[in-house]
Amino acid sequence: MTDDTPWLPDDADEADFDPLDHAGITLDKDTPMAVTPRGGAREVGRSCYQVDTEWATYLVDCGLNQGAGGQFPDFRGLEPNDVDAVFLTHAHIDHCGGLPVLENRGLLAEDAPILCTPPTAQIAQTLLEDSLKIHRREANRPGRQQEFGEADVNAVYDRFEPLDYTTEARWIEQYAPVPDMESLQFQTGDAGHLLGSSWVSLQSAGYRAVFSGDLGGRATHLPDIDPAPEADLLVLESTYGGLHSHTSMSDARTELYRAVERALKNREPVLIPTFAVGRAQTLSLLFTERLNTLPDHIEREVNVVLDGMAQEATDRYHVHVTDSDYVDESIVNRVEESGWTQPFLPDGTIRPESDSDRERILDEFDPVNGENIPLILAPSGMLTGGHSSRYLAEFVARYDDANVFLTGYQANGTAGRTLHNALDGGAERATVEMDTGPFGTEFPDSDDITWWTDKETGERLVRATVPTDWLTAADGLSGHAARHGLRQFARDVGPATISLVHGPDYAQENLAQHLAENVSGVEQVTRSRLLTPIPVTRDVALDTASVTPEHFDSDKETYGDQLEHLHELVGALGEEVADVRGGREWTEAELRELVRDELRDLVADDSLASEASADD
Ligand SMILES: [Zn+2]
Repeated sequence: MTDDTPWLPDDADEADFDPLDHAGITLDKDTPMAVTPRGGAREVGRSCYQVDTEWATYLVDCGLNQGAGGQFPDFRGLEPNDVDAVFLTHAHIDHCGGLPVLENRGLLAEDAPILCTPPTAQIAQTLLEDSLKIHRREANRPGRQQEFGEADVNAVYDRFEPLDYTTEARWIEQYAPVPDMESLQFQTGDAGHLLGSSWVSLQSAGYRAVFSGDLGGRATHLPDIDPAPEADLLVLESTYGGLHSHTSMSDARTELYRAVERALKNREPVLIPTFAVGRAQTLSLLFTERLNTLPDHIEREVNVVLDGMAQEATDRYHVHVTDSDYVDESIVNRVEESGWTQPFLPDGTIRPESDSDRERILDEFDPVNGENIPLILAPSGMLTGGHSSRYLAEFVARYDDANVFLTGYQANGTAGRTLHNALDGGAERATVEMDTGPFGTEFPDSDDITWWTDKETGERLVRATVPTDWLTAADGLSGHAARHGLRQFARDVGPATISLVHGPDYAQENLAQHLAENVSGVEQVTRSRLLTPIPVTRDVALDTASVTPEHFDSDKETYGDQLEHLHELVGALGEEVADVRGGREWTEAELRELVRDELRDLVADDSLASEASADD
């Protein structure tokens, strides 16, 4: 699929540019809604989708793109008080980080609520506080200005309207200041991506649009994805749309644990930079479950450290550990049986509160006798701030041998990406520069490290040279569904139109073709464009390049394609079997039966899909 259409409509320069007017869309009973991306169209970051009806205006998510100093959604054409309600799918900052700017510019109507689940509201508070700190720091840089402050963040908290997942559709007029004529109903369900994450379904006048939010279905501590209702339009995330399937979560966990175990048995310190929410809990749960398999004399010497924002985020998780709406039943059962209400904290975890606590943890480690071996989980995940970059610098200054696990996506321009590239490229060492200072007043010194202070900004900086044999890239822990999971969700929704959002170019192109071929009833799959509305109606021809099932002829499918397809089925099946098997012991006979059933389902599913394509 080629798409030469520009990123933005040509005449979108005007400050009062109105996307609906420009596209000539009039909302009425045949086109009761239109969806306009204001961010997160062809990028991962600043997700924001405006939904207009004849009577009201809503947003689904309002995020911040944290890369390149921070970028908010494109709000041009929105007038003060325009937005009647926001549906927030989950608490990640690329979905909620733009809310305070919306507040600052007065774009929300008086009493406009932000509808989300209770865990989303709680975790978003933690992340927005941190985002404000980062924003203040960045606003001090030349050419930048502050776009929101503490009052705006507090005003956002006041608007949160926490609601559990709603299987029955609810009328928006019960929650938002909309005119009596407004007939919008909404429904939410578990997206399996993060504690409290949801998809959102909006319906009006017999038409429906489903927004996937970020989809997961992989974490062992979260419930499965709830199937969303059938809809005319599906706005679908595509972050990993280019990937058949991840390494199965249970394999990824085991591989990572074995590597950490090796390091601890060698009595070497371990640093795992991690995102504070989601990944940190996936990791801490892994260590809760497995560290007790270490030989006693080693286990005794391991100091698990949970640092920075991951502490607060983990506390938020613990509030919900007995609620099977939000955490997997295996966790709820474990908590109820054992009475141990903090399953995300390995026994004896240290939670440093100050730099002197952190310094003590490193001082107490004795590499010669292997006493007090630190196993540190600390944000940020890409070594761009938080305490992980400080631990890394201290490790370089202090130790000959250490281990650093890169467990998540490493964006371009980050220290994490530099390390990852060096590892991939087979270099022996990698030099990274980080804006960070040491824990103590003494700057630990070695040939591999230089500390200094920027004269203009007063920022502390460090340049550290890291041996690549310290590094391990741990893949397969992603909280995002790969192609198989995205396709399954799309099949449940069965839309005529799929609009891909929140993904890089290659992932969207790849996924668009795959869904056009493999989702029954789909008429077009399109890559969304910023400020270009998608009408929710039937028989629509979109104003942006799309693929349709006619582009594909199943007779011409090559052996290569068939093999790829088979590979995908087996991969997905492997993952399901592993998940099920984790729950309890299965006999071989039961497993054989399970595999047979699953295969029968998958084959039935797939032949239905290809029949439908052939009909067109
Ligand atoms: Zn997310």
